[in-house]
Amino acid sequence: MNIFKAMKPDKVYKNVFEIPLDQLAGAGKTCLLLDFDNTLGPDHATEPGSYAHEFISALREKNFSCCLVSNAKSGRSAKIADILGIPCVTYAHKPRPDGICRAMKLMDRSSSECVMIGDQVFTDVIAGKLAGVYTIMVERYSRREIWYVVLKRPFEKLVRLIGRF
Ligand SMILES: [Mg+2]
Repeated sequence: MNIFKAMKPDKVYKNVFEIPLDQLAGAGKTCLLLDFDNTLGPDHATEPGSYAHEFISALREKNFSCCLVSNAKSGRSAKIADILGIPCVTYAHKPRPDGICRAMKLMDRSSSECVMIGDQVFTDVIAGKLAGVYTIMVERYSRREIWYVVLKRPFEKLVRLIGRF
């Protein structure tokens, strides 16, 4: 498999609110697996803001199940998920697929029913593709991010340029 193909999400949107939920439902997707940092709010936020609450409400309205799939320490991501009222898989080890597989088991869904949504190629997208789920990338919520993500962005930019996404 072409290495750039392995890193190319199925779709890219500007933000989570641009994701066509009806279209996903029509394609048989019932469960959205969500990254938090810079996908549903600021990087390393300790609590979800109105942006995250609004998106989760929109998902509930459309009858989607959802689960946070985060590489973050269990304390922070569990608290965020708890406030949002959704389940959570912590220490997801993205780009390895095992966190997504744990989430699918937890949600009792097959890979064909799930969608991984996140802001990073080298974690969310690759993990989603390795787990065999439909993968959506959104542009980061904010340009402010932790140093080790900053270091990865130029490589991600290059991959996106070559992969044309
Ligand atoms: Mg992220």
